[in-house]
Amino acid sequence: MLRHMLLAASDSDRARQLISSAPLARGVVARYVAGESAADAVAVSRDLIDAGLLVTVDYLGEDTTDPDQAAAVTAEYCGLLRQLAAAGLSRGGRAEVSVKPTAVGLQLPEHGRKTATENIARICAAARDAGTTVTVDAEEHTTAEATQAIVAGLRQDFPDLGCVIQSSLRRAAGDCAALARPGSRVRLCKGAYDSPATAAFTSRPEVDRSYARCLRALMSGPGYPMVATHDPRLTRIAAAQAVLERRAPESFEYQMLYGIRPAEQRRLAATGAQVRVYLPYGRDWYAYLVRRLAERPANLTFFLRSLASSR
Ligand SMILES: Cc1cc2nc3c(=O)[nH]c(=O)nc-3n(C[C@H](O)[C@H](O)[C@H](O)COP(=O)(O)OP(=O)(O)OC[C@H]3O[C@@H](n4cnc5c(N)ncnc54)[C@H](O)[C@@H]3O)c2cc1C
Repeated sequence: MLRHMLLAASDSDRARQLISSAPLARGVVARYVAGESAADAVAVSRDLIDAGLLVTVDYLGEDTTDPDQAAAVTAEYCGLLRQLAAAGLSRGGRAEVSVKPTAVGLQLPEHGRKTATENIARICAAARDAGTTVTVDAEEHTTAEATQAIVAGLRQDFPDLGCVIQSSLRRAAGDCAALARPGSRVRLCKGAYDSPATAAFTSRPEVDRSYARCLRALMSGPGYPMVATHDPRLTRIAAAQAVLERRAPESFEYQMLYGIRPAEQRRLAATGAQVRVYLPYGRDWYAYLVRRLAERPANLTFFLRSLASSR
């Protein structure tokens, strides 16, 4: 119930205004977000890489209906990639970027899919120059078809372009089968958005079972699985699958969000596994933060206390 309320709030302009303008304790946002500028993201990326982790950087923002804004987000990513390269962090994919199709134009009233495709292609070209890769995030279930089509089209020119499967969606197993190709980079996550029962599993056990099924398909396939979860049970299943399939540690990676289970991120990396941290930055942190609270309502108390104490 609380999860549904919070997910609705992540989409509400009134709630956004109220919370974004509250004198939030800097610490609450800083726990999950690198900072406001690309320079902040580069500095935190360096710390994470120095600690033996990999990074995927996300410039916060989504759902734009303004072509200029979509172009500005694209330019921000290209600039970020240049800064990561100049700092020596992008070579070999140690720091890559994650991009939301709706942030670069997918929902524009006209030519949305074409604009998003062209903008993602620009970011892929900048990533190639920087010696790294791009992963296209998954968003609301209504965008899944278009997102998969964009990725499939761009893979002709950028074969290392990564994509995301949300195990909560009923289409997940079919998408995994279609993506089981040599070299395909697929991030598997549970899914952070509310979807209707026609499109998605609605109970946690079903979502987890779907995750385990997708994991089996990806781990036994010829691609490069990216296991994105904080769920210790699913992490253990992934590790067991990797042993069963005789996968070398460099043939797959674990992924977790910045600020969530940081000790576990370091513990896994110390075992020799590759662990990539999803690192968001930018001013538009509201929807991202509220989705994190929806996943773990226990954090809500912490958040509300810091709201009160910052006044
Ligand atoms: C790298 C990465 C990229 C992602 N990209 C996308 C995307 O493109 N599209 C999308 O829809 N979603 C994305 N997500 C979000 C994802 O879909 C889930 O919403 C989110 O990861 C929560 O699910 P979970 O698998 O961690 O398990 P949950 O079901 O949230 O948690 C399972 C268990 O994990 C442990 N746990 C979880 N959080 C914490 C915590 N804060 N502290 C301690 N233990 C904790 C607990 O034991 C908990 O019971 C991404 C997630 C990650 C990690």
